[in-house]
Amino acid sequence: MRADKQIEQIEQTVESLLSDPSHRDNPLRPALDELYGEFRGLLHQIDRVTRISDRYQHVSQAEKLSLTERYQKQLRQLEKIARISDRYQSMMRDLNEALKEASTRDALTGIGNRRMLMERMKTESARAERLHRPLTVALLDVDRFKSVNDAHGHEAGDKALVEIAHAIVASVRDYDLCGRWGGEEFMVIMPEIGADEAAIVVERVRQAVMALDITAGDTRLALSASFGIAERRGGESVSETINRADTALFDAKRDGRNRYKIAP
Ligand code: GH3
Ligand code: MG
Ligand code: MG
Repeated sequence: MRADKQIEQIEQTVESLLSDPSHRDNPLRPALDELYGEFRGLLHQIDRVTRISDRYQHVSQAEKLSLTERYQKQLRQLEKIARISDRYQSMMRDLNEALKEASTRDALTGIGNRRMLMERMKTESARAERLHRPLTVALLDVDRFKSVNDAHGHEAGDKALVEIAHAIVASVRDYDLCGRWGGEEFMVIMPEIGADEAAIVVERVRQAVMALDITAGDTRLALSASFGIAERRGGESVSETINRADTALFDAKRDGRNRYKIAP
């Protein structure tokens, strides 16, 4: 700004010197005139270069802007992909959970299935071993269930199985775990208690099954179940404990059904 002013002043001075008639014959005048012309020319050129440079800057700025725009567009696309991927992942998680739920739940009764029982037996068994805690398992088999189906049809049999499952769930303790072992057989896993205490729980289940009031047509189904109880021995595998419960169940059947037996 100051430089501009100075140039303006010099210009004015030079122009007034050149136009002053008293200097018309001054020998320096033609030289000054020529120099002033050159100076004007140079100014004009500087002006052009400045304009070109301005224009170039403008173009490169526009280019920079469009680069930023492109970058931001890509960023937005990436964010969108990330959101879709998040949603997809959470859908997969839900699906996985639903699958796991379906794969560990019995379709008819809604309680845990054999897979779930085996998983829980493994974890409970390992825990009992590690902490030297008792663990007892009971197998339940509905008595003469074939005759229920034969007399009243498979549907009535299904209905009875659902009711039996509910009766078991309602009779066990909160920390016990029950599931359908298969067919008309169920299992109750009882952590933290030995066979004697488990027998109290089992007796409650036995009574509950007997008390079930299920009718098929005009007939009330007379349901009962037999039980085999096995307390886990130290160092014993899951299948060994279950096998002992199964043998005890067989004994209960042989001894007349509608009772429990504790494995030795
Ligand atoms: P026991 O007292 O010796 O156990 O006699 P049971 O008749 O219960 O034993 P058995 O093994 O001879 O028969 C089991 C019956 O359970 C036969 C089968 O049709 C029935 N059953 C198994 N699963 C289901 C099911 O999902 N629904 C129905 N309705 N019946 C089933
Ligand atoms: Mg059976
Ligand atoms: Mg049976």
